[in-house]
Amino acid sequence: MPLIARIALNRPLRRLFDYIIPEGFELTPGQRVRIPFGRQQATGLVVQVGVEPPPGIALKAVAGAMENWPALPAETFKLLSWASDYYQHPLGECLFTALPPALRRGRIAEEKKDQWWRAIDSGSTIPANAHKQKALWDWLNQRSNGAPTTDILRAGFNRAQLKALQEKQLIEFVSPARPADFDEAPELLASRPRLSEAQTSAADQLASPNEGFAAFLLYGITGSGKTEIYLHYLKEHLGVQDQALVLVPEINLTPQTVARFQHYFGARIVVWHSALNDSERLATWLKVRNGEPVILVGTRSAALLPFTNLRTIIVDEEHDSSYKQGEGFRYSGRDLAVYRAHLNKCPVILGSATPSLESVHNAEQVKYHLVKLEERAGNAAPPVISLLDIRSRPLEGGLSRPALNAIEQILAKGEQALVFVNRRGFAPVMMCFDCGHMVECPRCDTRLTYHRRDRAMRCHHCDYQTAATEQCPKCKSEAFKPVGQGTERTEDILATAFPDTPVVRVDRDSTQRKGSIQGILNQVNTGKPCVLVGTQMLAKGHDFPNVTLVVVVNADGGLFSVDFRAPEQLIQTLLQVSGRAGRGTKPGKVLVQTCHSDHPLLKTLCEGHYLDIADQLLKEREEGQFPPFRAMAIFRAEGDTMEKSLQVLDTIKPLANTTGIETWGPLPAMIARRADKHRAQLILNARNRKKLNSLLTGICQELDQRKLPAGVKWMIDVDPQETG
Ligand code: ADP
Ligand code: ZN
Ligand code: ZN
Repeated sequence: MPLIARIALNRPLRRLFDYIIPEGFELTPGQRVRIPFGRQQATGLVVQVGVEPPPGIALKAVAGAMENWPALPAETFKLLSWASDYYQHPLGECLFTALPPALRRGRIAEEKKDQWWRAIDSGSTIPANAHKQKALWDWLNQRSNGAPTTDILRAGFNRAQLKALQEKQLIEFVSPARPADFDEAPELLASRPRLSEAQTSAADQLASPNEGFAAFLLYGITGSGKTEIYLHYLKEHLGVQDQALVLVPEINLTPQTVARFQHYFGARIVVWHSALNDSERLATWLKVRNGEPVILVGTRSAALLPFTNLRTIIVDEEHDSSYKQGEGFRYSGRDLAVYRAHLNKCPVILGSATPSLESVHNAEQVKYHLVKLEERAGNAAPPVISLLDIRSRPLEGGLSRPALNAIEQILAKGEQALVFVNRRGFAPVMMCFDCGHMVECPRCDTRLTYHRRDRAMRCHHCDYQTAATEQCPKCKSEAFKPVGQGTERTEDILATAFPDTPVVRVDRDSTQRKGSIQGILNQVNTGKPCVLVGTQMLAKGHDFPNVTLVVVVNADGGLFSVDFRAPEQLIQTLLQVSGRAGRGTKPGKVLVQTCHSDHPLLKTLCEGHYLDIADQLLKEREEGQFPPFRAMAIFRAEGDTMEKSLQVLDTIKPLANTTGIETWGPLPAMIARRADKHRAQLILNARNRKKLNSLLTGICQELDQRKLPAGVKWMIDVDPQETG
């Protein structure tokens, strides 16, 4: 009887396909194969071999293997299979997410980049009659750095000669990531600051990779020197052959962090993020897969890479919502990192000044070891946060007089200020003061944001945009005005108020060009007086030693949101942005403008003890029966009418009718129409995660069988970040 392989395809199908393994072929799980599929050939990944063939079906045979080794090694394969089940996403798509785009498309797993060769030994053992080999050896021997294959071929030699010399061990590969190339690191280490007493005590609490799996929550206030601890940890504990993974939220926003790692570890650092092109991705993927001893600094999807000798995982800013994939395979890079460490029996360090409530809860349950670092590194002190009630104050571009005065004072001292506005553009609404008309997106249930620099009205929820007009588009009145604050408007006010000081805007619009963020950071790092104005982007891990004042234009957005995560996210953003103040030798001050200065959440913010706030928020979560005390999943539907979307969710609701599981909805989403899709959701809230998981598996199977109305798509989101 022929052997059968069960194969996954890169398609949104919750099923696998069986193929005959031709005589003489050997396949292992994780291996890429070419298979006949319909009238075409497709690239598949072997999931299982030696399965019982289903009776009565004539199976086709595998056409060939793409490599004779598994593209996904056993541990990566296990991780993805687990994730497929946990997030209820089709296995094939999960597995293919871990391949670089070139390999998904079926390209050969070979680096296009040249292989470099170098001469070794004396050359004396070359047979006298092998003139060409001798000539090649001499040629290479003259080049102390070696030479790439293309140059060798161009010089008139061939691959057979290379192979012959390699077999005699007279030449060798020169691989750029060999440990020998990392010799520069120890010197640089000497130039790094010594860990403070507090840092040393924190670092001592982290177990070494030899001690197996352990998860550490490194709670270190902003500027406490967490990055420095990561660097020392890796230096101290990572063997020369070991691989390490450092997850960061968004690399392009914090080039400084990568630079610090590179300073310390040189060529051993490789990066992984969305701005890499396909061949860079393939090259890096191959390094990781080949077991080169890299320290990979990457965003979310780096958690899925095929490491073969991973010994340490670090997740920086572990609370950051960008770790959760928002569409398709909706995994959390942070959570997969923890599971991966567990599979791999290695430590994982989750670092943050504002850890997620999930992680704080895990630390309270002693699943994670809590390591605290509650003083700032060097001579810096934590910033002092105070609320500025703006209820009856006149505002200019969102800024109150006391805030402008405070900025003026620190500029006079030669220091820098940072102004945080939570919206880009000039104003979130254009309104007619005659007829009351507000300009809306024709495709979404939202208003258009006015971008004055580009004279455009843009939707921030779809790609719609239109030219800005001077008059109300409805009644032609001239009393057509921007309402509310965006970064552009605040920038203008600041530029008028401080004509002699550079005002630098940092938001998605001003940093779109490649390298522009670096230019902005360079300007700030000169330390000369300036005012930074920007969005969330400014809250992310930057180290600006001369910023001594942070002004939050308006803190009230998240106070009354229906999303159960809103208070947590508000506090995290405010503390992170506050943390940019006073990181150098001068003390920092934070002014938070609000209309709700007696709100308990903002009051505790000023006391600045994040873990106390987290405890308070966790109590509220427990009372409201929200995660992390419950396991949550959301079914979402997007249809060409709201009726159809609700209809699909109405089909699901009775399937979820079991004890221990509550369903909320179905209800239209907060933005019910987006890009002309009508969106609704059904929330499932369970006491027991296992029970929820098996229920979801059952529902997904059932839905695949049923005939649902055309023009609606449904999807499932486990551990959702947003419940709007
Ligand atoms: P975090 O990652 O916790 O925000 P960083 O590691 O970026 O903190 O450190 C904040 C600042 O303090 C950086 O400028 C860093 O170079 C400096 N720093 C960190 N550790 C020390 C130390 N032991 N001695 C002096 N300066 C330090
Ligand atoms: Zn009008
Ligand atoms: Zn829109």
